[in-house]
Amino acid sequence: MGSSGAADLVFVNGAVYTVDAARTWAQAVAVRGDRIVAVGSDDDVAALRGTSTEVVDLRGRMLLPGFQDAHVHPVSGGIDMLQCDLHDLGTKQEYLDAIAAYASSNPDEEWILGGGWSQDVFPRGCPPKEDLDAIVPDRAVYLPNRDGHSVWVNAKALELAGIDASTPDPEDGRIERLPDGSPQGTLHEGAASIVSRIIPPLDQEMVYQGLLKGQAYLHSLGLTGWQDAIVDRSLVLDNYDTYLRAGGNGDLTGRVVGALWWDRSKGLEQIDDLVHLREGGAAGRFRATSVKIMQDGVCENFTAAVLEPYLDEHGERTDNRGISFVDPSVLDEAVTRLDALGFQVHYHALAERAVREALDAIAAARRTNGWSDGRHHLAHIQVVHPDDIPRFRELGAVANAQPLWAAHEAQMDELTIPFLGEPRWTWQYPFASLQRHGAQLAMGSDWSVSTPDPLEEMHVAVNRQMPADYAYRVDNRDVFLPDERLDLASAIHGFTMGSAYVNHADHENGSIEVGKLADLAVIDRNLFAHPPDEISSARCQATYVGGERVYADADA
Ligand SMILES: [Zn+2]
Repeated sequence: MGSSGAADLVFVNGAVYTVDAARTWAQAVAVRGDRIVAVGSDDDVAALRGTSTEVVDLRGRMLLPGFQDAHVHPVSGGIDMLQCDLHDLGTKQEYLDAIAAYASSNPDEEWILGGGWSQDVFPRGCPPKEDLDAIVPDRAVYLPNRDGHSVWVNAKALELAGIDASTPDPEDGRIERLPDGSPQGTLHEGAASIVSRIIPPLDQEMVYQGLLKGQAYLHSLGLTGWQDAIVDRSLVLDNYDTYLRAGGNGDLTGRVVGALWWDRSKGLEQIDDLVHLREGGAAGRFRATSVKIMQDGVCENFTAAVLEPYLDEHGERTDNRGISFVDPSVLDEAVTRLDALGFQVHYHALAERAVREALDAIAAARRTNGWSDGRHHLAHIQVVHPDDIPRFRELGAVANAQPLWAAHEAQMDELTIPFLGEPRWTWQYPFASLQRHGAQLAMGSDWSVSTPDPLEEMHVAVNRQMPADYAYRVDNRDVFLPDERLDLASAIHGFTMGSAYVNHADHENGSIEVGKLADLAVIDRNLFAHPPDEISSARCQATYVGGERVYADADA
């Protein structure tokens, strides 16, 4: 065979799990240019090995399609890594030490920014301003928690924003207060924007570096593509232009669909702006073809939209049903029009009323528009009413799961289960039920809320127990709702073909098949040959996008 026929890259001697429709196994893969040209045995690719072919000996390790994350925030995650980063810490003292160290090593920063604290470290999930005042009295501190739904601020930040006992709660959020009505130091949901809107805009170069940092981190975990769950041109963080810049100059090596932010303070008139952003929103491997509608908040601060009210700490019924950020009638109309315009709708739909409203809006779109290939998806799906589970398949709505959260740990056991009550807490993360009812499952991390490592997330999808390195957060080792465990093949499918489907990329990647793009991840062991409770011990050793190596560790 002539040199033009030789492969540029071959993988041999591996456990190649292709994730094709028949779930075929292979031993070797050959790549020419950015495409896969052969999948088979070592003998099958031998003829494609030329003098300049790079040969990767997998030595029995696993080759998978590159992972894809269907809901992630890599730009803010990367910026967090560059700022005061609390994600990997686990106690209040560690937080305070890190914040004090960051403040003293960045004396010129007027605002101390960053975040990643965990609610279960603080009573009722609400850290007080006094802890921050003691270490940073003269500059403003603004630190979102891991999921971004609550923010820890100091007295200086409250003063600059003009928040005091007389400040009313905004419609879409809540100021945590002391008994005298004065602010306590934690701001929930929309209340945080009273402060965030006076934060000086991030330097665009910082945002750009955040994207590159986040991308490098995702590649190191085997991720080759993702859906950015909030793409926006807001004053606080313009990642739209950041993606266009990186896509245009080739710095963007991941394949990215951007979900344009639906501004809930506006109405249907913003659809024209979204069309405009989509038209201008394609460069290189980036395209902004999805619209993110955040329909509710989170359970831990009682802003997730529930059908029956939350319970209080004594198990008594309250009158709080959480928040529907978009009025359901407006939602029906918005989704119908977006669907007709060929947009995909990407919901944040966390608790059972938000899930129902999101599905109802897709149903409204189907009634008016007929079937579309929008592949609308509901992210988080923490609490799903059993009646709504079959509707995912009926409506062609994709279940976008964040499996790392489906386990007993402090946030679940102390801040969620008691307030959901029986039987509702058992409706959480019903991944296997959705699968049994024919729903398409995609998977994602919601990083920087929690780790973007698909191996750790798949570990929980399969075991419904936290990986061992989360032991400090876990008192209860029971399997969380064991009937909802997925098998390993389904978890891998979720992070490969499932998420490729959501990104309308399943014809191009998501599986290892001849003609598809060579988006690949080398894993240090065959996951199927080890016990399921060791999935999180596995490591990605090399990552390829379109046949180009974008990550390799020392052992690769
Ligand atoms: Zn998110």
